[in-house]
Amino acid sequence: MTRTLPTFTGGVSADELGETLIHEHVFVGSPELDRNLPHPEWDEQVAIEQAVAGFERLYDLGVRTVVDLTVPGLGRDVERVRLVAERVPINLIASTGYYTSDVLPQYFRTHGPGRLVGGPDPLIELFVGDIEQGIAGTGIRAGMLKVASDIEGITPDVERVFTAASVAHQQTGVPITTHSHAATAGGREQQRLLTRLGVPLDRVVIGHSGDSSDLDYLRELADNGSYLGFDRLGMEHMARDEDRIRTLLGLLELGYAERIVLSHDAAFFSRVTPPSWRAKSVPHWRMENIPLRILPRLRREGVSEDTIRMLMVDNPRRILSGS
Ligand SMILES: [Zn+2]
Repeated sequence: MTRTLPTFTGGVSADELGETLIHEHVFVGSPELDRNLPHPEWDEQVAIEQAVAGFERLYDLGVRTVVDLTVPGLGRDVERVRLVAERVPINLIASTGYYTSDVLPQYFRTHGPGRLVGGPDPLIELFVGDIEQGIAGTGIRAGMLKVASDIEGITPDVERVFTAASVAHQQTGVPITTHSHAATAGGREQQRLLTRLGVPLDRVVIGHSGDSSDLDYLRELADNGSYLGFDRLGMEHMARDEDRIRTLLGLLELGYAERIVLSHDAAFFSRVTPPSWRAKSVPHWRMENIPLRILPRLRREGVSEDTIRMLMVDNPRRILSGS
């Protein structure tokens, strides 16, 4: 049976996903700040045109599918992304989850079982509704769950988000991608928590693993079954591509090709690191970095076409479709 995966514009068969960037962002914003402290570089029309042109170039470079991991907490606006998706030949997949590495907004303090206002946990309703019915009445269904923990570790609110994501995973089968803090080997506690919550670790991408060059740590995560996200290629203010490539080649040599995915965690606009700063400071941090610079480099290092296909096509398909 071939699974059909939801995109911003309909469904796509798992066999047709092709080369996939599994951890990207179209637009990262902050609806409240956009209203009260507009960013001088943000112009919605210009941003949409830049995203359309960017995805057209990516398609010409062979990329067929991009997962937008922008969830609430990062300014998700699926109607805006749909305006892009409708105009480009790339399959764009939406995500649900919540992005916080410390505390949730006040609303979640008062809502949920045993809380002031009570009711069911709105996080679970949000995640399951986004996957089964569609996001905020748009009919756009999510194909990936996103959770985060960082240097603060598993705070009570982070644990609440992981717990809700685990319930949603068990009800729907949709896989989970994490944001992890590689410098403190944060993937370990994420794996422990997800295991305790009953999530099979082979349905989990430990995101930002590629920020680490600790082979023992990375092998441990992969031996436990998870995928390692080498998903910040070009984000050289976190780690140099040169170091990421050396670690990646080491893992490939050790036989871990089936457990690695490549992406950039890039965006066409983010107010956190706006376009003018990116152009000056991290010029390779764009979605064309892998096809234009990284894959040719891997080929020069002797990585086979079969392995590149595994990293770019087979592994993302296995994660997204669960088979
Ligand atoms: Zn991200």
